[in-house]
Amino acid sequence: MDMRRDPAPFSAIERQPSRAEAIAQVAAYLSDSGVEAAQAQDDARALLRAAAGLSRLELAMSPQAPITDDEADRLSRLAARRAAREPVSRILGERGFWTLDLVVSPQVLDPRPDTETLVETVLALLDKRDAPLSILDLGAGSGAIACALLSELPAAHAVAVDLSPYACAATAENLARCGFTDRAVVVRGRWAESLAGPFDVIVSNPPYVRAGDIPTLDPEVRLYDPALALDGGRDGLDCYREIVADVARLLKSDGLVAFEVGSDQAVSVASLLGAKGFAIARVGRDAGGHERVVAARPAQP
Ligand code: GLN
Repeated sequence: MDMRRDPAPFSAIERQPSRAEAIAQVAAYLSDSGVEAAQAQDDARALLRAAAGLSRLELAMSPQAPITDDEADRLSRLAARRAAREPVSRILGERGFWTLDLVVSPQVLDPRPDTETLVETVLALLDKRDAPLSILDLGAGSGAIACALLSELPAAHAVAVDLSPYACAATAENLARCGFTDRAVVVRGRWAESLAGPFDVIVSNPPYVRAGDIPTLDPEVRLYDPALALDGGRDGLDCYREIVADVARLLKSDGLVAFEVGSDQAVSVASLLGAKGFAIARVGRDAGGHERVVAARPAQP
């Protein structure tokens, strides 16, 4: 699908614009294309940096330097893709998550700041960060959760599972990029179907969007995140039902399970867990104040 248009964002200016001027022009162009204004600024800056090969520091030090014709050409092409609502992470093929720089391939869910709430919640509930914990990440996608947890838990090891072979490849690539290959294995499979436990920590950000809501999502999500990673069935809860059924078999009696959930699903997911003998340990909120994570432990007899 070629969504490129010719925006010609620099044609109004006779001399070459400075970096700062180019950012302002691209931001205005993106916001005219429907990208929210503050986001358009951030995105324009990221695209200029990519087009000109600049670090954050280099841009901050000399915002008034003029951009070259080549840089302007590249920026114009990148800006046209963003104006067609392709996310910056997909245009650049990478994204910062937690403290890590991860590869984002077209076939995986773009890891989001919401998912950092899951990482934070798990870390906050663990007694000892240097213990040799076993972690299971179900539906690993880019591998963001597994990588972030391994980065904070130096003696932990992880099993990352995904149904999509492309996601398995992305997970493996990110684990390698972060230097965690010797502490992780990637398994292709449907949730925990083929696995035996027990694990200390089970985490998942499964597809949780109600099937009927998918056409109403922002174009960045609807057009660019894989449907397999979004579609949670009629009520959005199908995957939780499937996973929770297996968690009791796979989790240690003092283990921890934590799910990312849709912004109105915490109560439903908590009750699915409650019905299988888990006690809610914490509900974590995302930066927007939504209940985004449900963490639970096996209820003590
Ligand atoms: N965060 C995605 C959204 O924008 C959904 C991700 C998921 O289904 N796990 O709705």
